[in-house]
Amino acid sequence: MTTGDASLSTLCGVGPTRLKALKELGITTKIDLLEYFPRRYQLETAERPVAELVTDLIQNVRGEITAVDYIAGASRSRFEATLRDESGSLALVWFNGGYLKRVIHPGQQLRVKGKVRFFRGLPQMTNPKWSIITDETPAIEKSVFKPIYPASSRISSDTIAQLIHDHLSDLLELVDEWFEDELLQKYNLLPRKQAYRLIHVPGSHREAAQARRRLVFDELMLLQLGLVSSRQLRDGRLSAPVLRIDKTLDERIRSRFPFEMTRAQLQAAYQIAKDLQQRQPMNRLLQGDVGSGKTVVALYAMLMAVANRLQVAMLAPTEVLAEQHYLNFSRMLEGSNVRIGRFTGRSKRTEKDSIRRLATGQIHIAVGTQALIQQDIEFANLGLVVIDEQHKLGVHQRSVLQNKGYAPHYLVMTATPIPRTLALSYFADFDVTTIDELPPGRQPITTRFVRRHQASSVYQFVRQQISAGRQAYVVVPQIEDNEEDTASLLKKFDELKSRDLTGLRMEMLHGRISPDDRDRIMQDFRAGNVDVLLATTVIEVGIDVPNATVIVIESAERFGLSQLHQLRGRVGRGEHPSYCFLVSDAVNEEAIARLTAMTEMSNGFEIAEADLKLRGPGQFFGTRQHGLPELKLTDISQEIELLTIARKEAAAVLESDPGLQKPVHKHLREALIERFGDSIPLARVG
Ligand code: ADP
Ligand code: MG
Repeated sequence: MTTGDASLSTLCGVGPTRLKALKELGITTKIDLLEYFPRRYQLETAERPVAELVTDLIQNVRGEITAVDYIAGASRSRFEATLRDESGSLALVWFNGGYLKRVIHPGQQLRVKGKVRFFRGLPQMTNPKWSIITDETPAIEKSVFKPIYPASSRISSDTIAQLIHDHLSDLLELVDEWFEDELLQKYNLLPRKQAYRLIHVPGSHREAAQARRRLVFDELMLLQLGLVSSRQLRDGRLSAPVLRIDKTLDERIRSRFPFEMTRAQLQAAYQIAKDLQQRQPMNRLLQGDVGSGKTVVALYAMLMAVANRLQVAMLAPTEVLAEQHYLNFSRMLEGSNVRIGRFTGRSKRTEKDSIRRLATGQIHIAVGTQALIQQDIEFANLGLVVIDEQHKLGVHQRSVLQNKGYAPHYLVMTATPIPRTLALSYFADFDVTTIDELPPGRQPITTRFVRRHQASSVYQFVRQQISAGRQAYVVVPQIEDNEEDTASLLKKFDELKSRDLTGLRMEMLHGRISPDDRDRIMQDFRAGNVDVLLATTVIEVGIDVPNATVIVIESAERFGLSQLHQLRGRVGRGEHPSYCFLVSDAVNEEAIARLTAMTEMSNGFEIAEADLKLRGPGQFFGTRQHGLPELKLTDISQEIELLTIARKEAAAVLESDPGLQKPVHKHLREALIERFGDSIPLARVG
């Protein structure tokens, strides 16, 4: 899109007050205004003579009030009026319309709008909208299809509509076509300029839908082109180490695991092994519901790399999780030659030594938090990077590694199953493997939504589980890592300790506890020396203690669906039946619906889809860590058809015109560079 003279103030009719009101809506340039899309449309029908009214439709009528009456009823009072035009009379009824006695009088000219019904052959409107006609009231002469814009108290939808309408041809000057005619025809897409026009001033629902479809297509194409072209660049330039594996190695690796891998785990491991045998760097997303056993699949790949004399870095989102992986791997690899280092950035002295041994290749697997690759750490021969429980490896981390001259394979494991629509869009540059089966013998988790006042019976139940030898989590929301939150956790701790859970061995885990204490507490919990772990969401991801069978989530309404599912996944990891209690006093309808849904849904993919619908992709990802442009118009969960087309056609466009050098793609190329900045390889071509 041509920037031109972008400023809004050059449009006539836009003074300082309006500019300010528009700015509050995020509109500061002409393009912002053009891309301020209607939320919906409304049909405003032309005024009709009474004699031409038809039943059941909402219609506008104007005429003179000839009679009024107020009927005070015991239960329901009503105000009645008769409106006449040259062709006939219309009965109007407003229930509870007592106040109208003082406003509507015979002799007035009124315009009413409402659904028409016939009683004994006479037309009637119940509770119509009305306005008194003045000299300034224009007649609605022809039916209009009216856009409704998101508005504010300072500027109405009508004003925005008027502004856009008045300047539309000026604004449309800024729109250029992005694609070849052939492509547009193939999918029956409107020209870009026309789409921008019709989305603001459509003649019908159909036109509005066509306009929207074209613009959604453009958003999706832009996203896909960005992703596909970075992928092509990466695949073309980088070459990763080629790994080997044979039957002996496969068996040797698997014999390290304390259980048989499931069919789904094996399939995933073999798919990854296949990638690792290519020179092209692997970029794979491993997804599977919580508890599906992603860790050993990753370990399989890691051991394959080590057997090929390459080093592995495994990054976890929290120190607690890094520590757990470290302990877990150390246990499984006891007595082998594989050396594991722990890099959580805390014990300076021992880590200094580990850093040295990593650089000389004496450490094979480095387990740490994200800090691991940001630090000044050198690898002797880095071949694989595994990222646990993250949606995506930040572009930043990747380039840190690349700048150090490493071109490893990447395996990313997701904390939340990625709905298909997102997998096709934000993860377009990943290959996806799904583990669609849980390890055998898993018990279903019973989920209950309980009110605050029932909480003590919940804690009663917790006590029973603990006397049966099990363990429990209690989770309280954390808003920020600040003193107030810590204080509320402390309060909860004292409250439980002195009342519901007296006598039990209870510990607390939150962001402000020193790393050493944290390790000690987790160790004690794993060893069964702690009955109840009271925690903020630090336990959200990854923690694996199969003997824990109850999780109580306090103020559960503050969590998103996927987050609740993650939390719930801390239990049900062993052979015992497990329970999740969502404690909430929420009165808000949406929150209640959400919590109720949790008691009915157990499949992480379904939950993720529902969460995506409720909160949109930005929220779904937590912080906007995907680093990709926000989609203005597209509700990605609804656009599977266009998404699939865009994915295919983006690849085709880049195939036929790799650097987007053809004149017809000039504007597309500019738009891409504008949207993605220099990170897009196209910026460097030509
Ligand atoms: P997640 O996919 O949530 O990261 P984990 O890798 O933590 O799941 O595995 C969950 C639990 O299941 C762990 O206790 C793990 O040891 C166990 N597990 C994984 N795979 C199997 C299997 N094939 N058979 C039995 N238990 C398994
Ligand atoms: Mg995990």
